Amino acid sequence: MVGKTSKTLALPLLFSLGLLTACGGHETRSSSDDTTPAPAKVAAPHTQALVRNQHAHLEQDYAAMRASQISNVHYALSFELDKTSPNFEGSANIEFELAEGNKSDITVDFNGGEVKRLSLDGKDIKWDYNKWFITIPAAEVSAGKHILRIGYSRPYSTDGDGLHRYQDSETGRVYLYSNFEPYNANKMYPHFDQPNIKARYDLVVTAPTEWQVISATRESSVSEQEGIKIWRFPTTAPISSYIFPLHAGPYHVWEDTFESEDITIPLRLFAREELAQYVVLDDWFTPTKQSFGFFNDYFELPYPFGKYDQIIVPDFNAGAMENLAAVTFTERFVSRGKKVEAQRARLANVIAHEMAHMWFGDLVTMDWWNGLWLNESFATYMANLELAQASEFDSAWGTFYSRTKQWAYRTDEQVTTHPIELPVHTTADAFTNFDGITYGKGASVLKQLPYYLGEENFRKGVANYLKTHSYGNTELEDFIGALSQAAGKDLTEWTQQWLYEAGVNTLRTEFTCESEQLKSITLIQTSPQDMDLPTLRSQRTQLGLYTVSEGQEAQQIAAIPVLYKGESTQVELTSSLACPDLIYPNLDDWAYVKVALDNTSSETLKQHILQFDDNNLRIMLWQSLWDGVHEHNITLDEFIAFATSKLTQEDSVRITNQVVSQLIHANNYYWVLDKTGKTYAQQRAKIADFLWQSIAQQAPGSDEQKTYFDAWTSVASGKQHLNHMRNLITGKKSIEGLELDQDRRWNIIVNLNAYAFSDYLTLTKKEIHRDASDRGKLKALAANAARPGNSNKSKWFDQIIGIDGRYKLAEITEVMENLFPANQTELLEQYSDKLIQALPDLARAKDERFLARYSKALLPTTCTEASIAQLEKAIEKYSNLNPVLNKQLRISKQEDERCVAIGKQL
Ligand SMILES: [Zn+2]
Repeated sequence: MVGKTSKTLALPLLFSLGLLTACGGHETRSSSDDTTPAPAKVAAPHTQALVRNQHAHLEQDYAAMRASQISNVHYALSFELDKTSPNFEGSANIEFELAEGNKSDITVDFNGGEVKRLSLDGKDIKWDYNKWFITIPAAEVSAGKHILRIGYSRPYSTDGDGLHRYQDSETGRVYLYSNFEPYNANKMYPHFDQPNIKARYDLVVTAPTEWQVISATRESSVSEQEGIKIWRFPTTAPISSYIFPLHAGPYHVWEDTFESEDITIPLRLFAREELAQYVVLDDWFTPTKQSFGFFNDYFELPYPFGKYDQIIVPDFNAGAMENLAAVTFTERFVSRGKKVEAQRARLANVIAHEMAHMWFGDLVTMDWWNGLWLNESFATYMANLELAQASEFDSAWGTFYSRTKQWAYRTDEQVTTHPIELPVHTTADAFTNFDGITYGKGASVLKQLPYYLGEENFRKGVANYLKTHSYGNTELEDFIGALSQAAGKDLTEWTQQWLYEAGVNTLRTEFTCESEQLKSITLIQTSPQDMDLPTLRSQRTQLGLYTVSEGQEAQQIAAIPVLYKGESTQVELTSSLACPDLIYPNLDDWAYVKVALDNTSSETLKQHILQFDDNNLRIMLWQSLWDGVHEHNITLDEFIAFATSKLTQEDSVRITNQVVSQLIHANNYYWVLDKTGKTYAQQRAKIADFLWQSIAQQAPGSDEQKTYFDAWTSVASGKQHLNHMRNLITGKKSIEGLELDQDRRWNIIVNLNAYAFSDYLTLTKKEIHRDASDRGKLKALAANAARPGNSNKSKWFDQIIGIDGRYKLAEITEVMENLFPANQTELLEQYSDKLIQALPDLARAKDERFLARYSKALLPTTCTEASIAQLEKAIEKYSNLNPVLNKQLRISKQEDERCVAIGKQL
C-alpha cells in the first residue's frame, strides 16, 4: 500500500506538508520501550483448546493457532451485485482440512453481515455468530477434509474498507471496489482472514449488464440473461485474503500490452466514466511497461499472475493498494490540468511500488503483520531503484531524500518513535504501524544494504528469496538469511542495530589543516538528546570534500567512503589534499543519519550554496539550513531572508519545490506565533510577495511557474494578494502560460473563503455551478468549513462529532482538514477545550481511521505554554482511550513545544 498525500493547515500538519502520511492517516501508537519480542508461536491445536476473545480484531496468538488448525483452503465465492440496493448477497463455499487432534472451536471471520444459512458437508450443524466471527464448536467437526457452505448478506461499506459502494451524485452511476489491508476482507465475505492461510479462489459475480467486473484473474466467461450478466473467473493461484480483489461498476476501460522476449502481459486501466476525460494514458501505461521490463529481469522471475489491471477509484483511503493483478489508486492521481513533472514522477513511483508488491508481498507474503514494514519498505526501495535506472525520472533518489527520508527522520525524532521491527499483537495494532518508520526508515536502511553487501549480491539475494518462497509466507529471518547468504556476510549485528532499536543518530565532521593542507578528519557520532536511545551504529557513508573560491564553481577535491562506528572514527587520508571549505559527511546519501555541519562548512554553505553544481548535494545543503531552524542554529527570520534572496537563482525545480514547501511551513509558524504579543504580518507578507514576484520571473508554462504559483495560493493573505486571487477567478487577470485549471481554481476559492474576502459567497456559488462534479462538491465543503465565524465552526463541529452519518468519511475528512486554516488560530483556541473533551465520545463511537484523521487535523496545537499544558493534561487523562489518539496527542505536544522554542528565538 502507499499512503495518502496530506495537506497543510494550521500547526498540527506543519510537519507533514506534501509528504506521505500513513496510509489514510493511520498514525498511532507504539512507544520506544515497546521492544518485547513477539510471543512464541502457539503450539499445535491439539495441546489445548484456545478460546477466541470476542472483539472486532484478530489476535496474533489466535491466528498462529488457526494456521496450524486449518489448511488446504479453497474458496468458491459468488456475489449478487446491483445498482440500487444498500446490501449485497453472497455465498461462500469453503473447502478446508482440519488438523488431527483439534480441540479448539473453528472460527470464520465475518464482520457486520447477516448469516442466512450454514451447513457443513451438506448437514446442518450448531453455530453461533457475534457480528465479528462465526463459531463452530470443535465437537461438530472431525479431522480431515470438509466443505462449509455459508449464505449471507451484508451492507456495502461507505468508509472505504471492505466492499465499498460509491454513487456519483451528478450522474447517479454506482461504482464498487474492495479494499482490505490489513483485516477488512472479512467485511466482504466469511473466511479465514489472515495472510498465512493462503487459498485458491473461484469466483462468480452477477452484475448489471453495463458493468465491468475485475478480479485477480481475467474472466473465463460472461453470459447475459434478463438484464444481468454472469461473470465467471478461473481459479487463482494460492493467495492471501487481503489482496483478493473484487471491483465492479460502469468503469471506463483502456487496454495496452507489455511485450518482451519472454512474456506478454495484457494491461488494462480503469477509471470512473466521469473522470475519464482527465486520465492521461501515457502517465500510466509507460511507467507500468518500464517497471515490468525492470522487475522481470531484476527478480529473475517473470510476472507470475498473467494479466495486470489498474483501477482509479473514488473515496480511496490510501494512495494505492496492491490487490493481486488489480491494483487500486486514489483519484487524487488524476489532475484536471496538466501535471508538473514532480506529479508524474510521484505517480510513476507509486505505480512501480505497487508492481514490486506483486512479487514481494503478493507472491511471497509476510507470515503476520509484524512483517508489514518489510513489505512496504522493500516496495518503496524497489520503486525508487526502478525509477532511477529504467525511467525518465532518474533523479528519484534525490526525491527520496527530500521526501521519504525526511519523513523518516522526523518520525524517528518524535517521542512516539519505535523500532522498525516490532510485535503486532492484533490486527488493530497493524494499523498503528503505517508511519514514517514503516515506510521511510525501513526503505532508508534497506538502501544501505547494497553499499554494504554489494549491489549484485543484494539483487541475487532478493531473487533467491522470491524463488524459494513463491506462493508461501516468510519471516524476517528468511529475507535477511537470503541476503546474508548471497553476500557471504553475517547480518546479525546490522539487524540488531537497525531493525530492533529506535532513533536516529547525528554525524558531525571535525577536521584540521596545516599550511593549507588537510591534516585530519574525525567523524563524531552522537545519539539523540533528551531521548533514552543511546545506541550508536555502524554503517558506510561517503565524505564529500570541496573547495570554493569567489565567483567559481565549487571543486570536489575528494569523495572518501568510510565505514564508521562508535563515538569517534578517524578517517584515513591516503593522499595529500588541500584544506577543504566544506565537508559533507553523507555524500550521495548512502547513510541513514542526520548531518550536523561543522562551523567552517556551515559558513561556506551560507556564502556559496549556489556555487555547488551537484543538485543532489545542493538539496541536502538547503535541507541543512531548514534543519538549523529546528535546532536553533538559525532563526526563522534568517531562513526567510536567506531563501528569498537565493531561491530564484536556483535552476533545479526539485530544489525550488523543497524550499517553497519550507516557506509554507515558515508562514504557518508565523501565523501561530502571532499571539505571543508580536505580529509577524511583515514576515508573512515577505513570503507572499516573494512567491508572487517569482511567478512572473519564470518561463510561462514552466513547472517552476506552477510551483511558485501553487505555493503562493497557499500562503497569500493581505488585501492586495487576496485581490489578485479574486481577479484570477473572475478572469480580470491572468498569468501568461499558467493554466488555471479547476483544481487550482478551488484552491483559490477555499482561500478566499478562509478570509471571507470580498464577494466570496457569490464567487463560491458560481464555482459550484461551474464544477458540479463530486470533486467539486468536496471542495465546496472545504470552502464552507474554512469560513471564519463562530456559528460556522459550531455547525461543522457538531457534524464532525455527530454520529448521524450524514457525511461520508471522505467528506468529513475534507471538513476537518479545512476547519481551522492557519489564519484562524484564535478560533482554534476558542474550540480547544471542546475538541479535546470530545475525545472519549469519539473513541467510543468512531473507528481508528476517523480518529487518526480527527486527531491529526484538529488537536489544538496553538504554540503557547497553555496549549502545551492542555495537551499534557489530555495525555494523562486520555492515554488509555485508544492507541491512535494517544500517539497523536504525544506527537502534537512535542510539535507544540518545538514551535514555542522556535518562537523564543525570534
Ligand atoms: Zn505498499
